[in-house]
Amino acid sequence: MRHVLALDQGTTSSRALVVAADGRVVGRGSRELAQFFPQPGWVEHDAEEIFAGTVAAAREAIAQAGVTPEAIGITNQRETIVLWDRATGRPLDRALVWQDRRTAERCAALRAAGQAEAIHRATGLVPDPYFSATKLEWLLQHRARGSGVPMERLAAGTIDSWLIWKLTNGAVHATDPTNASRTMLYDIDAMAWSEPLLALFDVPRALLPEVRPSSGAFGTSAAEHLGLALPIRGVAGDQQAALFGQGCWRSGESKNTYGTGAFLLLNTGTQRPTGGQGILTTIACDARGAPVYALEASIFVAGAAVQWLRDGLGLLAHAPESEGMARALASNEGVYFVPALTGLGAPAWEPDARGTIVGLTRGSTREHLVRAALEAMAYGTADVLEAMRGASGAPLDVLRVDGGATFNDWLMQFQADVLGVPVERPDVIETTALGAAGLAGIAAGVWPDAAAFLASRTYQRFTPTSGVNVARQGLGGWRRAVRAAVSWARDKDGE
Ligand code: ADP
Repeated sequence: MRHVLALDQGTTSSRALVVAADGRVVGRGSRELAQFFPQPGWVEHDAEEIFAGTVAAAREAIAQAGVTPEAIGITNQRETIVLWDRATGRPLDRALVWQDRRTAERCAALRAAGQAEAIHRATGLVPDPYFSATKLEWLLQHRARGSGVPMERLAAGTIDSWLIWKLTNGAVHATDPTNASRTMLYDIDAMAWSEPLLALFDVPRALLPEVRPSSGAFGTSAAEHLGLALPIRGVAGDQQAALFGQGCWRSGESKNTYGTGAFLLLNTGTQRPTGGQGILTTIACDARGAPVYALEASIFVAGAAVQWLRDGLGLLAHAPESEGMARALASNEGVYFVPALTGLGAPAWEPDARGTIVGLTRGSTREHLVRAALEAMAYGTADVLEAMRGASGAPLDVLRVDGGATFNDWLMQFQADVLGVPVERPDVIETTALGAAGLAGIAAGVWPDAAAFLASRTYQRFTPTSGVNVARQGLGGWRRAVRAAVSWARDKDGE
């Protein structure tokens, strides 16, 4: 039996999985990751801790598996950026995490200067502190300058490049197109670093990693780190790795992760879609790990709405109770909850919106509110997917799902009914790490192709049923509720 080691470097922890050729996970390891908040809006990670934790998790997984993997696949928190000294191997500062907002003013200035259009055209993104470019610019201005380290000794990269560089003892400085597409420095038409954007952010080309195919060769991890030398053969950002791990390789295939928030990606194939309304264009992988386009959007509050009903209002003790409560009602009886607790994301895009409950009557109960919170996840997903279809022309054939709230069978059935499209939930839900394992294992020949990689996977399939009419009707009511939430946010003069 052949095996692959998947390294999953996330925002709150570094995890490792040993995956067997038959799809079984035979070893696991993990390490928590400290979060630093040195100033309001600043979020940092210790890059040395990221590397040490990843190595420790990998050793743990290999020991538990008791096997020798053949290749490493890396998946990682995206956009987070590290600047380091090639001579010493030391970062010049902590990693600036994707959540870090210190460059908000810079991004506002870029928008005011009319740069948004050019940035969007080149990268598929919108100027936002979330992406790496303005963070790297900040590091160069505030940490490189005056450090005494000459510019030609510096290297920069997202977490995948940092891990590759450390594992190969500095032999390889590389990234893959999925990670590059989140830096706001990568031209997704030319598939190359964008010269105009490098100039705009004053980033020397030599600072950045070489961009190599996601399923390919990224050097060899030196034996001292994991106890054996292993080739690194797969790399992808976490959301794109999950899309690949879900088997969404073709145009029209999409996945949604239902966690605290929801993360949606739709593969649109080789044709670049337009995006807009909070929907970004990004690079994902086809069945061979080659680049294709994808649309990406997030819903800020998904499972968190259930959390709020539990912790804020005390309407239920545990999130899984929501399933029985929703089932207890034959319909929502006109009650809708728009959980815009932190504003409305795609496609309505109204940052000033706030949570809105409409349709209450004397007969409304806690079951109505809980059901409305679950329905909101399904309607919000339908809205985003419809906007994505509009932007790409790609049909939607199936929605593959993962994340904590997908254990709710009622929600999954309701989601299928709202969409009128089957919803598939895999037996192994660690789709992100599996995706990295797949990309590496295909390059290393552990699996001859992507189909073989997923051959052993089973899905629970929720097909649209007679509930379709009720659910589609509900979608109309939901959209009216969203309009109410938006108009409440915008109608400030009526006070
Ligand atoms: P994250 O990775 O974002 O922390 P998870 O994937 O662990 O999130 O999912 C946790 C979220 O899913 C929580 O917000 C919780 O309220 C919600 N959740 C968990 N189980 C259920 C369930 N059975 N029904 C509905 N929501 C659930």
